[in-house]
Amino acid sequence: DELVSQIAAGEVVERPASVVRELVDNALDAGAEQVTVRLVAGGVRAIVVEDDGCGIPHDELPLALKRHATSKISSLAELEGVMTMGFRGEALAAIASVSETHIVSRPADASQARRLDARSGELQPAARAQGTSIEVRELFFSTPARRKFLKSGPTELSHAIEAVRRHALARPDVGFAIWHDGKLVEQWRRALHEQRMADVLGEDFVAQSRPVELLAGPMRLQGRVGLPEAARNRADHQYVYVNGRYVRDKLITHALRSAYEDVLHGQKQPAYVLFLDIDPTRVDVNVHPTKIEVRFRESGEVYSVVKRAVEKTLSAPAG
Ligand code: ADP
Ligand code: MG
Repeated sequence: DELVSQIAAGEVVERPASVVRELVDNALDAGAEQVTVRLVAGGVRAIVVEDDGCGIPHDELPLALKRHATSKISSLAELEGVMTMGFRGEALAAIASVSETHIVSRPADASQARRLDARSGELQPAARAQGTSIEVRELFFSTPARRKFLKSGPTELSHAIEAVRRHALARPDVGFAIWHDGKLVEQWRRALHEQRMADVLGEDFVAQSRPVELLAGPMRLQGRVGLPEAARNRADHQYVYVNGRYVRDKLITHALRSAYEDVLHGQKQPAYVLFLDIDPTRVDVNVHPTKIEVRFRESGEVYSVVKRAVEKTLSAPAG
């Protein structure tokens, strides 16, 4: 099972930023209102994610690290079951298999916290307010070839910050803080959507973009698209979410590029943040373990809705 976990880790954990993405995801699942990320040496030495969510009942702490189902698939029926369930319960086990992981958690009804050492399974009393801290140290320490592949601290740090940014844009109702080597490097307080975009992407993004809003059958598109004059700024900040989850989708990217083509005259594309909400039965999110890719049932329709909405926004008269 250790080996299976390490193989799974190859799919889920590529670098510190992948760990940050999964741990923040779990914190949000736990209903956190404040998420704090602490990194040492770009996350290569340590990644700690603290939340004020529901916590993990002490008798369930060891279960949080157990892989579910996939390692024990023995029939097609079971495989199908796993596919419809999605890639559940993979991340923490995968992360723990390639690092020194500790979980400290205190559920609402507990009088104190417990600290679990993932490797030894040892449980100890600990001090903590309600919520969970997951500590991941020395990523890839047991696989030197993979550890060597990691980039310098500053590069890994910028990827890790980007991972938090992706969550933060979708969840303005949650406060985020990022510390690196003991210094506060980013802080986004709980806010409304527009303010969160300004905090995360800069005031200039909001000033040089327009709101998108379109309802089309089972689809709803919202967000902001940068105007051509904003192409100089933050052109690397292009975010697409499907049902609240950050995705990389060629179809949507192409629809955006196509919508921008007329007004850009060969310039780089500006930044944009788009949220597509769609009936969940019309999209398959279990294409990849990290859910970063999706597959739409009616892809042509999605393409034209996005293109139409963005074109309409860009061609509307100013003011
Ligand atoms: P998944 O999120 O797909 O269930 P994970 O491996 O990411 O799988 O997490 C395993 C389980 O550990 C979660 O289902 C949850 O029960 C528990 N867990 C992990 N992180 C937290 C957290 N920050 N707060 C509360 N529970 C957590
Ligand atoms: Mg998870």
